[in-house]
Amino acid sequence: MRTTVGWRADGPATTLRRMSLERRDLRPDDIAVRVDYCGVCHTDLHAVHAHTGESNAALVPGHEFTGVVTEVGSEVTRFTAGDPVAVGNIVDSCGVCAMCRVGQENFCHEFPTLTYGGTDRHDGSTTLGGYSREYVVRDQFAYLLPAGLDPAAAAPLLCAGITVWEPLRALGVGPGTRVAVAGLGGLGHLAVKLAVALGAGTTAISRSADKADDARRLGAHDLIVSTDPAQLADARERFDVVIDTISAPHDLGPYLRLVAMDGTLSHVGHLGPVTVQITELLVGRKKLSSAGSGGRPATAAMLDFCAEHGITADIELLPSARVNEALDRLQRNDVRYRFVLDLSDLS
Ligand code: NAP
Ligand code: ZN
Repeated sequence: MRTTVGWRADGPATTLRRMSLERRDLRPDDIAVRVDYCGVCHTDLHAVHAHTGESNAALVPGHEFTGVVTEVGSEVTRFTAGDPVAVGNIVDSCGVCAMCRVGQENFCHEFPTLTYGGTDRHDGSTTLGGYSREYVVRDQFAYLLPAGLDPAAAAPLLCAGITVWEPLRALGVGPGTRVAVAGLGGLGHLAVKLAVALGAGTTAISRSADKADDARRLGAHDLIVSTDPAQLADARERFDVVIDTISAPHDLGPYLRLVAMDGTLSHVGHLGPVTVQITELLVGRKKLSSAGSGGRPATAAMLDFCAEHGITADIELLPSARVNEALDRLQRNDVRYRFVLDLSDLS
């Protein structure tokens, strides 16, 4: 085992504490990564709130990070020490099921190994995430960070970015598509940037009218204030694709009403049961879908696309010692648009 340092939930309390952690010794197909920057995803907040603090279920959040390879296993040929890399929210999969065979490891029938809170396929241990100075990962699930992408601002691409990229691509978003993005947070602001870069006419939907200037700066053509019934009514059936990134349970009805005939509402935000009046789908033959994370080919393609178009997240970079402040502010929706932790203070 090797020892590193990270931020760990140590009980049902919602504060993380700096603690030493163990990482496995490298397997032949592993690389060791010095984690430099890790984004703070709303899922981390959900996980910290849900954590029971049982000693056998350690929680170290963090599933979108960038860093530098420090060591490679004996069979690794894709990386050498010194390479800049990025890691997202899945770190292994079975590799042989139908989903893995088509490059959708995120839908692995044997369940992909999550970057934290997952179960390692070989030793059964609980995976500990990227709020730490070192991560050991199977080389297939690390991506070379393209030159030109700022490593701090690129970290959120590995969860927030890929989670919205896959549905945008799967739904054929491009020039002529009318896209709306509901919830202008970490996922939402990247969905706007990516949809705009794909050539789509893009609208942001937010509770906050004061995000209108930001929405335009991100490339959106306009912003609908979701708390204003008149604005929602005015936008009825206006969009081919609505990407819903809202982090709290909510009624899908108002968002389905914005979808045009044969269009799709892709709900990638809060993951939980929803109630849908089927007539909301019936009228206009609308579709409801979801997505999460991304397969290896799509993740690599998304990174290339972002490098080509100069897309990274709008971030507020904080020393990792301020992780609890970041989680607290994220809870209060006080972020534009992603906190990223600088882990160098753990050295
Ligand atoms: P975030 O940065 O906190 O953004 C969420 C946005 O949702 C907020 O900025 C806010 O936008 C809106 N919102 C929050 N509470 C709301 C409420 N009660 N009613 C209406 N709108 C509300 O969070 P994030 O990191 O983007 O994550 C968004 C959600 O996606 C989380 O639930 C997260 O767990 C989930 N997620 C899913 C996947 C996946 O694999 N599918 C991956 C990553 C994250 P406005 O201020 O603009 O209204
Ligand atoms: Zn995430």
